[in-house]
Amino acid sequence: MRVRETMRAIRIHGAEDVRLETVDRPCATPGSVLIRNAFAGICGTDLHLFFAPESFGSDFHQPAPLTGATWPQILGHEFSGTVAEVGAGVRSVAVGDNVAVFPYNWCGKCQPCLAGQTTGCELMAFEGIQGRSGGMAEFSSVAAEQCFVLPRSVDLTLGALVEPMAVAWHSVAVAQLESSECVLVVGGGPIGLGACYAARARGIEMVIFSEPSRSRRELLHTLGVAHVIDPTSEDLPERVRSLTRGRGVDAVIDAAGSTAAFPDAMRCLAVNGRMVVVAVYEKPYQLTRNQLSAGRTIRNSEVYSPDDYRDVIEAMSDGLYDSAMSWIDIVELEHVEEAIRELGAGRGMKTLVRSSR
Ligand SMILES: [Zn+2]
Ligand SMILES: [Zn+2]
Repeated sequence: MRVRETMRAIRIHGAEDVRLETVDRPCATPGSVLIRNAFAGICGTDLHLFFAPESFGSDFHQPAPLTGATWPQILGHEFSGTVAEVGAGVRSVAVGDNVAVFPYNWCGKCQPCLAGQTTGCELMAFEGIQGRSGGMAEFSSVAAEQCFVLPRSVDLTLGALVEPMAVAWHSVAVAQLESSECVLVVGGGPIGLGACYAARARGIEMVIFSEPSRSRRELLHTLGVAHVIDPTSEDLPERVRSLTRGRGVDAVIDAAGSTAAFPDAMRCLAVNGRMVVVAVYEKPYQLTRNQLSAGRTIRNSEVYSPDDYRDVIEAMSDGLYDSAMSWIDIVELEHVEEAIRELGAGRGMKTLVRSSR
């Protein structure tokens, strides 16, 4: 008989209720993999889960249709780790491999999935939100296909950034940017930064940022962003026009979700320009007919595909994301709640939790 093994895990029970607990350790069932988790990122979604879970509009105490998971749930959907055990039939990964976990589960049967729009699955469920596992625990167990092997050149801290960087990568793909084009990124948080890296990977030289926070503007400058605009003290559309010889930008990536900033961002778009919304709007925004004149469009970008994961890992391996370590803080499992509250108060950029030692 197997001895019952336990592990430490951060579980969310409800609004403003996360606990460091001892829970059963998962195991590698057929087709799945046991991972010794290394790092898990705290992101805006985790802040929403912590401060306002009701804003998601689903009852997390009812089983998720796709995964059957109910809260309490181990937090952490952006995570990396090392394969500790593989279940029967697993060949794509081996014990000792470092991996980034693809936490997004889709059903494959709803209308969006059948149409190939799996990023819009009606039953979507994430590890770390409504899944079987989460990254803020010593171990997790996920399907072998959810494991993306990290090459030696990509360490486990960077590995925990694959998920948010894939969100940003996908938004730049949705914007269909060509190397000769220019882009305005609204919001210099981790996703905005990720959009900048993804734009650079496509050979785009002209990346303009709009960011009201002074410390974030300073960080952007240290990362080599030449054009950073403070929308609270400068006229954003006017500045963008002067930087683009009056044309405007070919795409805006909205990584801020600020209703107040939206009309000005739309005014920055060139003819046939694309506004891609990757942020979540807490308040509705008003659309006018003029904003969509001359071929301008608005598109939503949600999650990512396995291809986005592969592209980000390859770009990491090429060194594109090396400067990311300058905007990362690392905390222990004991300090997750504090870290969530700090980020909620607008301090810090990106915090990773060290999931095991
Ligand atoms: Zn996230
Ligand atoms: Zn589906």
